Amino acid sequence: MAKMKVVQCWDDGVINDIRLVELLRKYNAKATFNLNPGLMKDERIPNGWQRLNEGGGHCFNGYYAGKISKKEIAELFDGFELASHCWNHENADSMPVEEWIKTAVSAREFLEDIVQRPCTGFAWPCGRYTQETCDALRAAGFAYGRTTKNVDFVTECEDAMALHSNCHFMNAGFYERYEKARECGVFYFWGHSYEMLEYDKLWEQFELKLKYINDDPDSEWANVVDIAPLCDGKTK
Ligand SMILES: [Zn+2]
Repeated sequence: MAKMKVVQCWDDGVINDIRLVELLRKYNAKATFNLNPGLMKDERIPNGWQRLNEGGGHCFNGYYAGKISKKEIAELFDGFELASHCWNHENADSMPVEEWIKTAVSAREFLEDIVQRPCTGFAWPCGRYTQETCDALRAAGFAYGRTTKNVDFVTECEDAMALHSNCHFMNAGFYERYEKARECGVFYFWGHSYEMLEYDKLWEQFELKLKYINDDPDSEWANVVDIAPLCDGKTK
């Protein structure tokens, strides 16, 4: 029997990705990082528990997620996949589709320039998408667009431009969903590393998941872009 392919992706290019890639490397895990270069500066924006006038950084339960710098993208994510998450995290339904697709493509071109290979993955900012933007994404040559919806079997997605995952990495049913996904041969989870804050227990909890998967002789790590064709009712 073929091994189940386990794929994961992480959004927004935040400071906690530095700790995350270290952990992923420990388990030889593959992963895709969905970045928005327009929100990244030449220098890092630090994490903060209190932000008064500096601005910037996504706020999560009062924790301000810092951003990695543009300069460190290549080295930090060496060996991982990079994907577009729009230039400035533009939501798909926030502007005319012709304008919106430019933000998706410009982020992709920026990343391809850095890594000198195709970056055809995409994650929908805030999970928002429309049929029109899905069509535009496909026409622009993207391989998939990840949503924030959960499904039991990702290979049953109708359209890879609306590629659903099995769950968020902190989903209470993570292990059950993992076991269930064996029936289709692909397990896909996603998240933001800032959701683990700087709280070691949450990082240890995620490490247990990595270890569980890595110790499973019937699974193997894969990249999202490689499973996307299996999850596209339009082309398969
Ligand atoms: Zn995002």
